[in-house]
Amino acid sequence: MSSKPTITIAGLPVARGFAAGPVFIYRGGGEIPVPEYLVEKGKERAELLRLTRAFNETRRDLEGLIAVLKERTGRADVRVFECHLMILEDAALVDETKRYVMEERLNAEAAVRRTADGARAQFGRMNDPYFRERVCDIDDIERRLQKALSGFDRGPGMEMHEPSIVVADDLTPSETVQLPREYVLGFATNGGSTTSHVALLARALALPAVCGLGNITSRVSPGDMVLLDGTNGAVTVNPDAETRAQFEKVAERQREFAGPAPAGAAPAGTLKDGGEVLVCANVHPGVPIAGVKEYGARGIGLYRSEYLWLNREFEPTEDEQFEAYRSAAMFASRLSEGSYATIRLLDIGGDKLVRGISAKEPNPFLGNRSIRYLLSHRSVMRRQFRAILRASAFGNVRLMYPMVSCVEELRDSATELESTKRELESEGLDYDRSLPVGAMIEVPSAALNADEIARYVKFFSIGTNDLVQYTMAADRGNDAVAALYQPLNPAVVKLVRMTVEAAKRAGIPVSVCGESAADPVVGTYWAALGVDELSMSATYIPVMAKVLAGLTRADLDEYAKVPDSMPHGSTAQDVFNACHDWIADRLPELRDSLII
Ligand code: PEP
Ligand code: MG
Repeated sequence: MSSKPTITIAGLPVARGFAAGPVFIYRGGGEIPVPEYLVEKGKERAELLRLTRAFNETRRDLEGLIAVLKERTGRADVRVFECHLMILEDAALVDETKRYVMEERLNAEAAVRRTADGARAQFGRMNDPYFRERVCDIDDIERRLQKALSGFDRGPGMEMHEPSIVVADDLTPSETVQLPREYVLGFATNGGSTTSHVALLARALALPAVCGLGNITSRVSPGDMVLLDGTNGAVTVNPDAETRAQFEKVAERQREFAGPAPAGAAPAGTLKDGGEVLVCANVHPGVPIAGVKEYGARGIGLYRSEYLWLNREFEPTEDEQFEAYRSAAMFASRLSEGSYATIRLLDIGGDKLVRGISAKEPNPFLGNRSIRYLLSHRSVMRRQFRAILRASAFGNVRLMYPMVSCVEELRDSATELESTKRELESEGLDYDRSLPVGAMIEVPSAALNADEIARYVKFFSIGTNDLVQYTMAADRGNDAVAALYQPLNPAVVKLVRMTVEAAKRAGIPVSVCGESAADPVVGTYWAALGVDELSMSATYIPVMAKVLAGLTRADLDEYAKVPDSMPHGSTAQDVFNACHDWIADRLPELRDSLII
């Protein structure tokens, strides 16, 4: 038994499941700290040596990167880094930095920061946009130098030695995928919410996660034993034997209930009367997709291609992309009759930032992201089109545009896609001539204009993660506004309803691929509104399948009316509770599993 007191900290249940293990505190995130101090008199030469070593190490890294790139990609990719190398070797900049150390006795990190700030100010003042953009290069070079000085990349933050619960302030997608997967038992973070990327990745990895824990990083110490309950949103620190035994019992019951359906069961998504709502999986390349089949996914409803870009300094080549898309297409085509992989084009921006690619923007969630980024980087778009089109010759593929906000984007993308097809034909390369192209509906303007948008596409997929965020003006990753993050807010419901109705009028299928599809209460509500497909983290499929299997289409029609019967003044939480109770009354055996 532990001698430390047992405490329980409540948070947001963001990825279902239970895990017990020691704490590993990850402190890597965000900016590399830049310490600033005066070097002791007489120690300037030693500091200069540190600085010179950092310059040398950075130069070697860049040279190595350039050599690899030359082998693997075109010249354009290399030029950026050749330019970085030139700046790094610029005698004036190097001398200035050395002078800060030798004459002003600044430590190496602060000297690098001072030089970089000077260069940033100088470039930032220039009228020529080309030179203004060089500010990003300076940021990049400075980051490399600071990394070399702090040893950041060798990752004190990432070094795990035993299976542990990762406790962090917050985790970006790149940090989450960099952690050694074999040692991660689950996540507990100060910030974050249901649709933050750590939550989505935890679900994809079938790991439990609790977010919005406030200050858990300062309430636990490395090695403390914790019980992580991602189903109810609680972390128990230093549990006594009785608490632990109780936890294991609940965990075991849940594991049985939420596990894959037995062989011979009806396909996931079959309703009680034989009707069907297609239930598919969301996948992240780089995160194993093996569980997708066993949990019963009928296809891949969302393939987040941007994960191929994370944690690298350069765009994956067309061939690398092609290999990844082809294997997803082949895998998805084998899942069920007519099943497909819905490959979403590069959705970077917002909180999915890619080093070396994402520009610094004052408001990245409203910036040059996703389809906007692609339309302003046509060669990136065309390479991705080529890879997806080529993959479509090997399995059923659907191509999907992220963050569509107006028809011009679809018109311009279609022009680019058609010309890419002609290019492939002229090279004698095969692709699916009837490849369906769809739009994500995740910006309110797209939902409001869904009838027009439908003229340009063959399917819709509603991204509720972003649709809720943009409709409610509530950051999807910020636990401080988690209460405003309301998928069943009447405003969001209206937009979803409009989108579904527009799809029906246009005769095209519509899915929901935001995580609300995985919520037994909310996902069932989308199905009741007439959504044809629900796509979610695969581990959430079994429970959703059980709910759908207990209801007929007539039940769903009745369920769709539950919010309409609420008295004036009802909140989104009241609506959720009423919907929850409606299902729990019909399917009492599922009552304990209806909270996501
Ligand atoms: C969404 O916004 O609902 C969605 C599925 O896309 P992502 O979570 O990758 O932004
Ligand atoms: Mg989105």
